[in-house]
Amino acid sequence: MRLAGQEIAVVGAGIGGLAAATALAQRRAHVHVYERAPRLTEAGAGLQVAPNGVAVLEALGLRNAAEASASHPEAVELFDHRSGGLPVARVPLGSDAVARYGRPYWHLHRADLLDLLRAGAEEAGATLHLGAGVEAAAPRGETVALTLAGGATAEADIVVAADGVRSALRARHVASSPPRFARHVAWRGTVPAERAPAELVRPHVRVTMGHGRHLVTYPLRAGSLVNFVAVEEREAWTAEGWSHPDDPGHLRRAFAGWGGAAGALLDAVDSCFLWGLFDHAPLPRWVDGRIALLGDACHPMLPFLAQGATMALEDAWVLADCLDGADDPRAGLVAYESARRGRATRVQRAAAGSGRLYHLGPVLSGPAHAVLRTVAAVAPRHLASRFDWIFGEDVTTTG
Ligand SMILES: Cc1cc2nc3c(=O)[nH]c(=O)nc-3n(C[C@H](O)[C@H](O)[C@H](O)COP(=O)(O)OP(=O)(O)OC[C@H]3O[C@@H](n4cnc5c(N)ncnc54)[C@H](O)[C@@H]3O)c2cc1C
Repeated sequence: MRLAGQEIAVVGAGIGGLAAATALAQRRAHVHVYERAPRLTEAGAGLQVAPNGVAVLEALGLRNAAEASASHPEAVELFDHRSGGLPVARVPLGSDAVARYGRPYWHLHRADLLDLLRAGAEEAGATLHLGAGVEAAAPRGETVALTLAGGATAEADIVVAADGVRSALRARHVASSPPRFARHVAWRGTVPAERAPAELVRPHVRVTMGHGRHLVTYPLRAGSLVNFVAVEEREAWTAEGWSHPDDPGHLRRAFAGWGGAAGALLDAVDSCFLWGLFDHAPLPRWVDGRIALLGDACHPMLPFLAQGATMALEDAWVLADCLDGADDPRAGLVAYESARRGRATRVQRAAAGSGRLYHLGPVLSGPAHAVLRTVAAVAPRHLASRFDWIFGEDVTTTG
């Protein structure tokens, strides 16, 4: 157990930071998590956790707790917003996902996942410091000195920068280029089930496609809420920051003319947040000596494959595994980077490609949807197989 007794500072208590803290502390490292926010909150309600993410939660001993609050979608259904009630294609999940990947596909409320990761980290012995923004990390021989907001200091053998897409530690230690606006915005929120069209409360993910926009909906918390993410292409992001509460009227205007269940759901929205979607080009390296990036800090991706948080879960497991198997922390971090960078980069690129398919214009969408319909009718499992390389990976056994 080479991690035992190592002092590790994790910067950021998002899904990636808390999962890393849990995995590291379970291997008897001394872990301190520094979170800038005064309390843990998650704007935007829903999160899809594919079987590759469930594998990590299971290995961390959190599967039962997560399963208790998870919803279990039976399929992803793709609709064209103009074509009414019939799906363009259907990718089975439910028992098909279990048969195919050995584990289920879940929907979780983000707050529920954060709560259980926090409990897992604290139970394993990690200490969480809230309202503790990290301003700088300076290598000092065999350790790294941290400076916190307000002037407090701390020291660690290893620093894990899980501080999100605007990672200050990434900018200072790995790549100074700022995140770029990915020319998409997303409105996120929930609608109480009793105000949502009944067909959107069914345990399914529904993706409704249109020119330059799409809407994803699925039920959460035992069908009491319908989660929505409404994405629109946009040339520029001019707001301060990267998310703000928005007037639902703007959302409805962006999707004007959409009828059916999608339109009815948007009519029922009475509060939402608008997010600018930011990413950056794949990084050539994730590690600087004893400092390593994790999650959105190193591979932010467009949400079109719902894999960003799941990739952070995978990172967390592999990081702990590589450090535990190495003689020297630096070698462990290099092994982590080489185990993870190729896969995360491939998923980043694939996520961007999915968005293009959802947003086709009237000329291309007709033929493209006809092909999808045919494939879905003739070889329904073929569509699902496109995701095998993502969902079928179990980093807890392949490391
Ligand atoms: C619309 C949308 C839908 C999505 N849907 C899915 C989905 O269904 N499934 C999925 O897997 N992924 C999804 N994602 C992606 C997912 O939300 C992110 O990939 C994931 O939350 C990243 O987690 P993280 O821990 O790396 O970073 P973050 O969640 O950004 O956490 C970073 C933490 O670091 C803290 N921090 C920042 N700077 C400092 C500092 N200097 N000192 C201390 N603390 C600091 C922040 O306060 C924050 O708590 C979606 C994303 C979007 C935008």
